[in-house]
Amino acid sequence: MEKKEALDLKCKDWEALFEGWREPRYRASQVCDWIYKKRVLSFDSMTNLSLPLRSRLKEALDLSLPVLIERRQSSRGDAIKYLWKLRDGESVESVVMRYEGRDTACLSTQVGCPLGCSFCATGKSGFVRNLTSGEIVGQFLAMEADIGDSIENAVYMGMGEPFLNLDAVLDSVRNLNHPKMRALGIRHIAISTVGIVSGIKALAHSDLKVRLAVSLHAPNDDLRTHLMPVNASNPLGSLYKALKSFQEITGERISIEYMLISDINDGLSLADELANYLKGLHVYVNLIPYNPTDGLFKRPPRGRVEAFKKRLEGLGYEVALRKGLGADIEAACGQLRRRALI
Ligand code: SAH
Ligand code: SF4
Repeated sequence: MEKKEALDLKCKDWEALFEGWREPRYRASQVCDWIYKKRVLSFDSMTNLSLPLRSRLKEALDLSLPVLIERRQSSRGDAIKYLWKLRDGESVESVVMRYEGRDTACLSTQVGCPLGCSFCATGKSGFVRNLTSGEIVGQFLAMEADIGDSIENAVYMGMGEPFLNLDAVLDSVRNLNHPKMRALGIRHIAISTVGIVSGIKALAHSDLKVRLAVSLHAPNDDLRTHLMPVNASNPLGSLYKALKSFQEITGERISIEYMLISDINDGLSLADELANYLKGLHVYVNLIPYNPTDGLFKRPPRGRVEAFKKRLEGLGYEVALRKGLGADIEAACGQLRRRALI
């Protein structure tokens, strides 16, 4: 029989496991402490457990992390990008972004992505499968192990659409956040969605106060559907309603991601349209210069990016220009895997 993935287990699963084995429940805390706090990923090294119990755990569970295939560090040292091999041989990417003393892990949720946004390298290589919750958490722990330090922030902005894999994503958030497990602050976790309306509603009604980021990239349906085909079934009108109700339920500010592509969505009239669309929502806007993945699109010149930012600010929005971290290591999601596959 195939072994269960240990990182898939939630706190209560560990407790049930030990109860079933007629072991005290506190064994669950001991094991989770080794894995999530001490970063010990081998049952053999869990010295406060008896030898027979360690063997039994080894027989029942697989505690492996994703295996490193490729690691690249940006020349400025502000980003490290990883390509990992999963148990079935599939591969995914993750990134650690390091700046101003804050480390942030960018996690993948799917192998590939079925949504095919025209600017995205992940979308171009098609969809293979959803990740398990253990594989999502595994990326985080593997990066902590690699840098030998704790990472305090997690963003679900790697390969794939988190809301197409909602259960595993929310389970992984629970394991990262649970005080007996990785104990990452819930406010330090953000999920980025392409704008799946049903997922936004589900998150609003869940018990998890994670931050929400929405990849908007265009303020009208024509342009947005052209760039992001999923907009046809999740158009801007219903997206707006979902965001509004998310905000009414959670009281949270929403992060709006707007990637600027030269001559496509970076004109000042589009900044006006964007401001208009966002009216009534409590948001901050992150502008991200497009990271070229092929010959199709171009990154706008600096001046146009600044002008777009100024215009939005002039209209009363809080706007940040995200630094293009690690462009020299193909840090945009999906680029490394795609190159490895070709
Ligand atoms: N599927 C989710 C999360 C993963 S994509 C989503 O779309 O939000 C993470 C972010 O990278 C998204 O905002 C996406 O639009 C952006 N992105 C994709 N390709 C990019 C590129 N070539 N340059 C800059 N950002 C890109
Ligand atoms: Fe999928 Fe997000 Fe890439 Fe679109 S941008 S193809 S939703 S990963």
